[in-house]
Amino acid sequence: MEPFQRHRRLRKTAAMRSLVRENIVTTDDLIYPIFVVHGNKQKNEVPSMPGVFHLSIDMLEAEVRELEQLDIKSVILFGLPAEKDYISSEAYAADGIVQQAIRRIKDLAPDMLVVTDVCLCQYNPLGHCGLVEDGYVTNDNSLELIAKVAVSHAEAGADIVAPSDMMDGRVYAIRNALDDNGFVDVPIMSYAVKYASAYYGPFRDAADSKPQFGDRKTYQMDPANVREAIREAQTDIEEGADFLMVKPALAYMDVIKELKQSFDLPVAAYNVSGEYSMIKAAAQNGWIDEQAVVMETMIGFKRSGADIILTYFAKDIAKWLKESK
Ligand SMILES: [Zn+2]
Repeated sequence: MEPFQRHRRLRKTAAMRSLVRENIVTTDDLIYPIFVVHGNKQKNEVPSMPGVFHLSIDMLEAEVRELEQLDIKSVILFGLPAEKDYISSEAYAADGIVQQAIRRIKDLAPDMLVVTDVCLCQYNPLGHCGLVEDGYVTNDNSLELIAKVAVSHAEAGADIVAPSDMMDGRVYAIRNALDDNGFVDVPIMSYAVKYASAYYGPFRDAADSKPQFGDRKTYQMDPANVREAIREAQTDIEEGADFLMVKPALAYMDVIKELKQSFDLPVAAYNVSGEYSMIKAAAQNGWIDEQAVVMETMIGFKRSGADIILTYFAKDIAKWLKESK
């Protein structure tokens, strides 16, 4: 008879379990999303995302101090413009809401890593990520605008630009535009693999970016595909991406693993609004233990290969990690 296998030996005590633990989550892994709006003294909770707020620029100081205290070192910014127009002007305006927020945060906390979402969908009335011509989201004519957005963010002081539009060639267009404007050291975190997902529902409330006609299936990926994810990521690497992102995360952990095994760039997982709101809603009903489920979800992302997690839970996670010390 084979020797009797006793796997439970390594689970006997907390010290033993921590000795053999394969993955951990720390605040170093986390990027916290912030939504900025025009106005003063605005701190408005997003109805479908309890605990997530729209903040005006004057409210950023308290936010940044809290993040510093929690040891969260990175944020990603999304903006809601004062007005929308067909060419998404505020997305690349020097005094646009995101550009103002970048300057304010870098002023308050020069060491805070500021990532910016580069897209058009919040800034035009059609709610599409590219320029719409004759009822179709055009590719090549969108690139110039998207590259302008990235350059304007770099000019305001962004540390990383993160294009989320899923137009073909945008990493190449952004890399060239950044380099031409002297921003050779600003990295691109590409939303390389972004699926046309129903998990974005609450975000579209938060960012007021619901498409006004059709959907995003002509540019975002089909949830059924994984080999296509490799092609998307490969292309973005060739075009100059410095990070690869998978969005959403929870239903796509196989894709995270696939990218991690196929490429040597850092892989980020976007734990999206719907993933957040599902846990929040269940926890508010007393159906699940929020902390335990969130931490299990995060360790799942790490185990699947994510180096970085963008999550609305970042502040909660940081508090729990502090408490557990
Ligand atoms: Zn978009």
